[in-house]
Amino acid sequence: MEMQMEFRRKLPIPQELKQQFPLSQEIRDIKEARDREIEAIFTGKDDRFLLIIGPCSADREDAVLEYMTRLAKVQEKVKDKIFIIPRVYTNKPRTKGVGYKGMLHQPDPEKGEDMLAGIIAIREMHSRVVRETGFTCAEEMLYPENHRYLSDLLAYVAIGARSVEDQQHRMVASGIGIPAGMKNPTSGDISVMMNSITAAQSEQTFLYRGWEVHTTGNPMAHAILRGYVDNYGRNHPNYHYEDLVFVSEQYKKLGLANPAVIVDCNHSNSGKQYMEQIRIAKDVLHSMHVAPDLAKLVKGLMIESYLVDGNQKIGEGVYGKSITDPCLGWEKSERLIYDIADAL
Ligand code: PEP
Ligand code: MN
Repeated sequence: MEMQMEFRRKLPIPQELKQQFPLSQEIRDIKEARDREIEAIFTGKDDRFLLIIGPCSADREDAVLEYMTRLAKVQEKVKDKIFIIPRVYTNKPRTKGVGYKGMLHQPDPEKGEDMLAGIIAIREMHSRVVRETGFTCAEEMLYPENHRYLSDLLAYVAIGARSVEDQQHRMVASGIGIPAGMKNPTSGDISVMMNSITAAQSEQTFLYRGWEVHTTGNPMAHAILRGYVDNYGRNHPNYHYEDLVFVSEQYKKLGLANPAVIVDCNHSNSGKQYMEQIRIAKDVLHSMHVAPDLAKLVKGLMIESYLVDGNQKIGEGVYGKSITDPCLGWEKSERLIYDIADAL
């Protein structure tokens, strides 16, 4: 049988790409300072509320930079209460495994896949965001072996609902110096998410990109509730008071470090009715108000937001409108951030 996997070309390893596209001292200082602030939030030394907000997919650099520039101005106004980590998501998991897989695969969504152009494009976009806005950002760690292409730039990673039960994702999450949000799986099984946090908080030895590596465990691995899909394909939320209390009890039983929950307001929590994110965010804040325990546990929210409301098909060409999940547009997002700050 012929070899069915064509090895097209050897690409630079992360170390080589980092040498080709080095970061300025200024960017490195920003990353260092923000990492310390974020650590203080997860370890409870700083009680600011996290907002992980931005487009479902960072599909084009110009619109993403415009969004992030606007967001930086809002961050400045709410900085006493809210710490923003923008979503700059360049690796997209697909439910059916086909379609647009993010800037990593297709730097131009209307053209074919080009993995070399992809690793360069995502490194350049993340660098530009830090340089021009002072934000270090969140990504989904969809491909653990690729993490180090961006590891000197990122503030936060999420392990997605389709990856959270995977051993390699959990072990790599145990060896990164930034918070790793472990999402509940699409089925909603909370034990899978809690087991994933245990694995990521533990030290691990494993094979990684041709190396035997050892990690000391990630004490900032934590939970993200994103809602779930039942056996009949229907969406169900898991952001309500009772859901938060349940996760709080699990944390108490397991004795994990730095108990924390981020509520993802979109995905199966909203059933991708992006406008519902506003109500869901306020509902979570209400739960925090009535239960001091939950106010400590819930460290923040994830919101899918872009310049324009909703989403579109690739090729429709509306600047700043999502080509993956529907997002809350700019004006409503800005209003929501101020409302959250007022409610805290
Ligand atoms: C996302 O954050 O866009 C995403 C794909 O999330 P999830 O893994 O929860 O589906
Ligand atoms: Mn999404």
